[in-house]
Amino acid sequence: MLTGLMQPRPLTIAHLVERLEQLFAHKTVATAGTERVTYAEVADHARRLATVLDDLDVPVGARVATFASNNRRHLELYLAVPATKRVLHTLNIRLSAEHLEYIVDHAEDDVVFVERALLPRIWPSAERLSRVRHWIVLPDDSDAAVPADPRVLDYDELVAGAAPYRGCLEDAFAAEEENLAAGLCYTSGTTGPPKGVLYSHRSTMLHCLGTLAAGLVGIAESDVVMPIVPMFHANAWGLPYGAMLAGAALVLPGPSAEPEHLLSLMARERVTLAAAVPTVWTSLLPRLDDHDLSGLRMLLGGGAAVPASLSEAYRARVGLPLTHSWGMTEVSPVGAIGGTRSRHAGAAEEEQVAVRAAQGQPMPLVRLRLSDVEDGHEPPRDGRSIGELQVAGPWVASGYFRVEATDAFTEDGWLRTGDLATIDGEGYVRLADRMKDLIKSGGEWISSVELEAAIASHPDVAEVAVVARPDPRWGERPIAYVVLREGSATSADDLARHVSPLVARWWLPDEFVFMPVLPKTGTGKLSKSALRARTA
Ligand code: AMP
Repeated sequence: MLTGLMQPRPLTIAHLVERLEQLFAHKTVATAGTERVTYAEVADHARRLATVLDDLDVPVGARVATFASNNRRHLELYLAVPATKRVLHTLNIRLSAEHLEYIVDHAEDDVVFVERALLPRIWPSAERLSRVRHWIVLPDDSDAAVPADPRVLDYDELVAGAAPYRGCLEDAFAAEEENLAAGLCYTSGTTGPPKGVLYSHRSTMLHCLGTLAAGLVGIAESDVVMPIVPMFHANAWGLPYGAMLAGAALVLPGPSAEPEHLLSLMARERVTLAAAVPTVWTSLLPRLDDHDLSGLRMLLGGGAAVPASLSEAYRARVGLPLTHSWGMTEVSPVGAIGGTRSRHAGAAEEEQVAVRAAQGQPMPLVRLRLSDVEDGHEPPRDGRSIGELQVAGPWVASGYFRVEATDAFTEDGWLRTGDLATIDGEGYVRLADRMKDLIKSGGEWISSVELEAAIASHPDVAEVAVVARPDPRWGERPIAYVVLREGSATSADDLARHVSPLVARWWLPDEFVFMPVLPKTGTGKLSKSALRARTA
């Protein structure tokens, strides 16, 4: 074997800091239409944060959590935390207190950076999260009460009071340190608690390069990138890192998802590339004509299937379809990107629409294959045969943080996605269904198993099954089918009242349907497919 003679330099997020300073100092990051800073300022704050984290004695490898919307300070943490060899743990601000506490505790977060407006959602858990040594408040325009507690510190004061770290952050990484953990993001387990996906510097930077690959997303310096998808959800699809590597301007929408706010921001900032879940794109549709969106070159939709009708509505109104993006938290998250190829240029309209409706083609370096759910053989890539989608690549998880989840991986190390799909002769993947017992509402997961347990804890419930009902706004919403104990007069309102304190509010089923018995399969197991067919 002959080893190549190339420099063993690590792939590290720290690289972004100097690149921003040296190449793109004057490019800007706009937040919520109220604040604009340059990348020079972002990098300066990241260097000051490096000192802050040292001064707070946050160890190398420690988990540093964020509980924040998409804003400039969050971006600074995206840089500073991994660039100093700590691990950025983005917390989902929509979780119930129970899940949040489990996750912070499981990750052993040392510090939590929390946006002021979100304090009321997480501070009540502080007493139970005694391992968190510091709560650092990111100022915003809210007047939420800031607890007078020695653990609570102010972000801006800390940053202003710290000297910027002057060394080269990238040089502090040895070659093999590209495999150090850089980010942590928890995803819903079908059964059991949420599971942590632990990104490395190497995986993040390779994924980042993937988002720059021309012909797919192809982020370029000339882009103005607006990740509407939250920065707590799988690194906002890698777009903040991609934009910084390319030197593209960033527009971060802040806490509001109001259609008018998003559209006026897009128009005013001349956004070229925006990304969101289909629920958001649906909500913007009625107001599209009121705004000048002529700066756009690409609209990305993913996290859930983008209906062809929605994509075509955008094509008719703004001249651009929604480009499908398939991915998973475990895939950093982008695995495939939709769209036509050169050979489709002259194809009939319906064929182009059908191609665009596919979840897409694998990103460079990502491998996709199917596995028959019965016997595990690989079905033909004929665009018709369905199998479980499996994925492999340098930005695909190989395990979960501190839990055994061997059934999530094949013997040869591919990730089992839990999605059912076809792959055609040109490598296009189309999702057909889902094996995992989860409901995706507005881009976020609801565990049917957990919801069933909450409903079943009512003493009058004999049997319950929760399934997804397609929903024009949210994609899917939970519907609960319930068999009551004999003689019980419990109503849907009673059940809703019982479940309310047990789950996040948006998890509450849209409907409780009472049945004498639940449908069963030939072997006597509950048939969710029969219930799904009834619900659709
Ligand atoms: P998450 O880890 O929350 O990003 O969820 C990943 C899952 O979301 C996938 O396994 C799919 O079930 C679903 N998903 C993501 N992108 C798409 C898409 N473009 N079309 C359909 N489902 C999707």
